[in-house]
Amino acid sequence: MAATTHRGPRATQLRIVSTAFRLFCDMAIPTRAVGSSSLLDLKPQDVGQRLTDWVTAQGLPPYRTRQLLPRLWQRPIGAWTDATELPLTLRSALQETLPLPRLELVTEQHSSDGTRKFLWRLDDGAAIESVLIPSQSRRTLCLSSQAGCALGCVFCATGRMGFGRNLTPFEIAGQAREIILRHPDLTPTNVVYMGMGEPLLNWKGVDPSLTILNHPEGLGIGARHITVSTVGIVPGMQELAKRTEQFRLAISLHAATPERRLALMPIEKKYDLAHVLQAAKAFRKRITFEYVLISEKNDSDRDADQLVRLARQMGALVNLLPLHPGGAPGLIPTPPDRIRAFAARLKNQGVEAVVRRSRGLDISAACGQLKVEIERKVETHKP
Ligand code: SAH
Ligand code: SF4
Repeated sequence: MAATTHRGPRATQLRIVSTAFRLFCDMAIPTRAVGSSSLLDLKPQDVGQRLTDWVTAQGLPPYRTRQLLPRLWQRPIGAWTDATELPLTLRSALQETLPLPRLELVTEQHSSDGTRKFLWRLDDGAAIESVLIPSQSRRTLCLSSQAGCALGCVFCATGRMGFGRNLTPFEIAGQAREIILRHPDLTPTNVVYMGMGEPLLNWKGVDPSLTILNHPEGLGIGARHITVSTVGIVPGMQELAKRTEQFRLAISLHAATPERRLALMPIEKKYDLAHVLQAAKAFRKRITFEYVLISEKNDSDRDADQLVRLARQMGALVNLLPLHPGGAPGLIPTPPDRIRAFAARLKNQGVEAVVRRSRGLDISAACGQLKVEIERKVETHKP
């Protein structure tokens, strides 16, 4: 018994180390794009036709299409074999020829404030994150649009990873689907593209994913409850502005002058502030400025006054975000009293500003941090 007690924890420890090491190796971000389009990559309008073609080719009656369609997004199933309303032979044929892709759950973490963070592994081993933030009757899902990010904002954990690849429409909208499959009571009411990656550098993936999230035969989330966040990729903003639905736009501003912005966000070199704001004028709905407050970098009274000027000019709402320290070693979060003073200065000059609570601090819930954290733990466990 004593020997068992001695070996038990050690064996467990070794198992954790080897599992963690495998996890780390598997999570390296690949640089190739993968996957041919599945049923779940298609917009609901197109998937109907694909299913009709399949049903016809199988010699089945047309009503079968109407039975299959809702199982993709409206009443999702993990695999066709779970669609018990269908005959067994039909389920097997679907499973064989039109299998439904899945995202593999690596970790799900729960914060004491109700926030949940999910780390998914994709088919080729890339790892991405989603965060679900409940607040009263809302459940806001923060989606990733790329594995990693090429843009290297100095405060961002994803930026430090570098770029892996673009996500497919399924890999984006599927983050919501996977959560619904696991927790139907957590079905998102709102979606923000504020996870890993720059959505407007992956328009090919993001464009259909917006339709899937919004369409009544998709997840049916109202366009005004779906926000695309961007650092200001002008061609992507122009594409988004062409969509007839009223998707919302958030611009990650973080500084109100080109010089200050360049010190935080290298993208300023390619798409400068003036052009970004010009492109934002094409949006009919009110836009939001995201502004991460970083001590001594962008949080002075002068910074606040410059932000007032831009917010007034654009009629923008300002979201003030406390810097999540895990994402940016070396940068210091603005202290709470300074955040309050900054917000008050905006409000006193007529700008609508909201200080966002930092959610999920205990589970590394800022963009890219869970992946970094798990890798760090694995590193420290390495023999
Ligand atoms: N690439 C897009 C969307 C993903 S980033 C963009 O930048 O807008 C989503 C948001 O996470 C951005 O507003 C970004 O500023 C914020 N973010 C990144 N790192 C952060 C950190 N360490 N603390 C707080 N917010 C952070
Ligand atoms: Fe990329 Fe957005 Fe992070 Fe900047 S803040 S590095 S654009 S994910």
